[in-house]
Amino acid sequence: MTFDPRTLARPWLLDVVSYTGEREAHGQDGLTLLDMNENPNENGGLNRYPGPEVRALYARMARLYGRPEDNLMISPGSDEAIGMLIRAFCAPGEHSILVNPPTFGMYALSAKVNGVGSKEIAMLDGAKIDWTSLSDAAEQDPGARIIFLCTPQNPCGTAVPRDEIIAFAKRHADRIVVVDEAYQEFADTPSLIQEPVTDLPNVVVLRTLSKAYALAGARIGCLIGAPELVAIVKALQSPYPLPTPSVRAALAALSPAGVAQSKRQIAELKLERERLASALRQHEDVEQVYDSQANFLFVVMKQAETWHQALLNEAGILVRNQTKALAGGLRISVGTPRENDLLLQALGVAPAAKSDRRAELKRETKETSIYCAVNLDQPGPSSIETGVGFFDHMLDQLTKHSGIAMVIATDGDTHIDTHHTVEDTMIALGQVLDQAVGDKRGILRYGHFDLVMDEARAQVALDLSGRAHATFEGSFKADALGGLQTEMVAHCIQSLAENLRATIHVTVSGNNDHHKCEAVFKALAKALKMAVRVEGDALPSTKGLL
Ligand code: PMP
Repeated sequence: MTFDPRTLARPWLLDVVSYTGEREAHGQDGLTLLDMNENPNENGGLNRYPGPEVRALYARMARLYGRPEDNLMISPGSDEAIGMLIRAFCAPGEHSILVNPPTFGMYALSAKVNGVGSKEIAMLDGAKIDWTSLSDAAEQDPGARIIFLCTPQNPCGTAVPRDEIIAFAKRHADRIVVVDEAYQEFADTPSLIQEPVTDLPNVVVLRTLSKAYALAGARIGCLIGAPELVAIVKALQSPYPLPTPSVRAALAALSPAGVAQSKRQIAELKLERERLASALRQHEDVEQVYDSQANFLFVVMKQAETWHQALLNEAGILVRNQTKALAGGLRISVGTPRENDLLLQALGVAPAAKSDRRAELKRETKETSIYCAVNLDQPGPSSIETGVGFFDHMLDQLTKHSGIAMVIATDGDTHIDTHHTVEDTMIALGQVLDQAVGDKRGILRYGHFDLVMDEARAQVALDLSGRAHATFEGSFKADALGGLQTEMVAHCIQSLAENLRATIHVTVSGNNDHHKCEAVFKALAKALKMAVRVEGDALPSTKGLL
């Protein structure tokens, strides 16, 4: 049986002709705009109804999720999409939805405000879908038109296995199965959006920029499904549902620099999630910490209500009381390392040691847009994307052999040449490394390495002296290596020295330019690793300042 969403849709939605202005047909570039009764006085673009930026966001989100634009409806938060799905497919008093408590409360609430019933099929052990009972409930009630699944689940944070969801959706191919993936970016399990739509025409996936992209305040969510189904839900949308400031914030968050920043934040939140989970497991009142694939933890505690109140009244920390959803349950969002330490202290658990030697920056010029972050005390995760293949390869060497995590995303004017991209990336990297070493108390300060690579040999000596100086002895035969002009190798050292406020001396010899260049970056990595190593807590200078 092929699924046709039109057979489930509220009938009057099928021939709705959505509002479109003249601009959709003609565009607006270069036109004098007297068609929409807007105020003509320029107000940072906000005097105009949203238009081109929304189209850019559709294109960007389609790329992000790997689906064509007509598979998407961007909504003011995915909360809004939940309500719209119910209004599009359920008649008040006639149809219902199926939910699996404990789960996200908006499904039942949205059903209620729309006069639609919700049936509850409790999860097993609070975190496993009871597929048999859910299937029975669907079969017994043909009016149960939408089944809401949430993975990773809120509030327990556990993931629902992809194969189980697919098998269920195929078994109930006459219903709409909504898979809410609000926290998917924090999960190691695969997303449903990669599944071919033809295979699962009755599956709708919900995503949001609220969590992974730190944009809860912008209210940007997304419904993803087969175009016929998406078109029905879109018929309910008001003409300009997405405010321009939110759209701009979303476009910035999804720029190469924004995506790199979010990747790093996600990686750090995941590390913090594990640190927090293992510390909480040591608490004598903690009976269970669910394995979380999201940016929060679900903890079952003795005296949970008392702890909830104590955290609030004595430490000013608000966690979510979920004892009604699951006995003893508290849901705790993973915060910054400092916030997590405050929580652990308030609970009387000693925080595990960690380091704060990290820094990040965003650097925007007319030539390049860069996001760069480093963590001196973690070997990864790293991700390097500058658009210059050989340069990426060199920076990969730098992160790998220094043991310093680096996330670098550069969007540069490589259509001119790669000079600005390479130079500005090294400037940004120097600046974040300088920030991360901080006051330099306790570090070794000096680093040196003599490295061979086949016939090539590079020597790097480095002093994090606070004074910028670079020397480079060596030359290359080729003009460029995989997009990197060889004259830029010495310039990289220069830019790094200036911005890290370091003295760096490099000597390189050999025959093969690839080997020589790679040897320089590897030796630099090793020298850097040595210089930033913490040895004690003294300042390595007789001056008293570096
Ligand atoms: N789904 C789940 C499972 C959630 O936990 C939340 C927010 N708490 C949402 C959807 C709503 O997200 P948005 O901010 O996009 O409305």
